[in-house]
Amino acid sequence: MYLACALTSDASLQSPFTTSWRAAMVPEENFPSLAKLMSFPMKQTTLSFFLPLALSLALAACSSNPYAATNKEYKKKAKAYAKTLRATPVTNPGEDSLMQGDHWVGTTNFNMRKPNYVVIHHTAQNSTEQTLKTFTLPRTQVSAHYVIGRDGKVYHMLSDYLRAWHGGSGKWGNNTDLNSSSIGIELDNNGYEPFAEEQINSLLQVLAILKKTHGIPAANFIGHSDIAPSRKVDPNPTFPWKKLADAGFGIWYDEEAVRNSVFESVIPLFQDSAAAATDSTAMPVPIAVPTATVAVDTIPATFQPKDALRIIGYDVQNLDAATKAFKLHFIQKEVNGILTDDDKKVLYHLYKKSL
Ligand SMILES: [Zn+2]
Repeated sequence: MYLACALTSDASLQSPFTTSWRAAMVPEENFPSLAKLMSFPMKQTTLSFFLPLALSLALAACSSNPYAATNKEYKKKAKAYAKTLRATPVTNPGEDSLMQGDHWVGTTNFNMRKPNYVVIHHTAQNSTEQTLKTFTLPRTQVSAHYVIGRDGKVYHMLSDYLRAWHGGSGKWGNNTDLNSSSIGIELDNNGYEPFAEEQINSLLQVLAILKKTHGIPAANFIGHSDIAPSRKVDPNPTFPWKKLADAGFGIWYDEEAVRNSVFESVIPLFQDSAAAATDSTAMPVPIAVPTATVAVDTIPATFQPKDALRIIGYDVQNLDAATKAFKLHFIQKEVNGILTDDDKKVLYHLYKKSL
């Protein structure tokens, strides 16, 4: 049983999820006498003595929250951004006088910009506490909207409407600023271990709310390695992408269709007749192409894996890295730059889904 610390609670950090240390860091034992002090009748003089004491006890307990200072800093920054948003007439950075126009006429019809992607990471750290610390030290310059512990606890660190620094330099399709358009979710994981069931269950709940609230398309739930294939390998190959896709987050392929796929054989359109062997003037005989070979799951001979990767979203400037990132996400074994025939079949089906 814990008491929440009202003095450090931050309305802007309220989330629909079961948060942890915000309440949990202030255990009830830090208030040993407070409840008792306030629960029985006291004379005015006693009250005037005990009330300041009780308040100072409460303050002391609240100051034990290791993130009280960073919560304060969050508020300060949010306030500064709010000031920019409130200013009229609006002056955007870099705007010239032409763009400002002759008159300011505020429209009545607008709302906040919404995220349209979710980028999933593993923290490559040893504990949630370590990650929370990393994301609250200004010098690290990294952050995420949510951190999910191995135990499934969800830590909300930033409003969905603000830009976290989780993606770094990256590209998905023609989007070169994923930080501006995405929610970053970090999963506490050392980079090699499997993801705990509780953690994935919480992730699925968070994703469901984000998808519904912001109308994020299924295909836009991606991994850090997808958007930064030359630099990143998270989440690790044990991440259950198929499970996520089955729940509507991310794309996957029809495994049966992949199994039944065949590569189109390259059949010459003409075949030399027997006569041609002895008579150079003899006409070639057209070959009857069996139509049955052109089935739904026939992969055309013209299929280009590089184009397929690009159409799915990968930055193919470094094709080897893009291929590895594809294999990390969709094959999850032998993560290298080589596409086997089976890998190509998977790629072909994902490409068709992305058209
Ligand atoms: Zn990452």
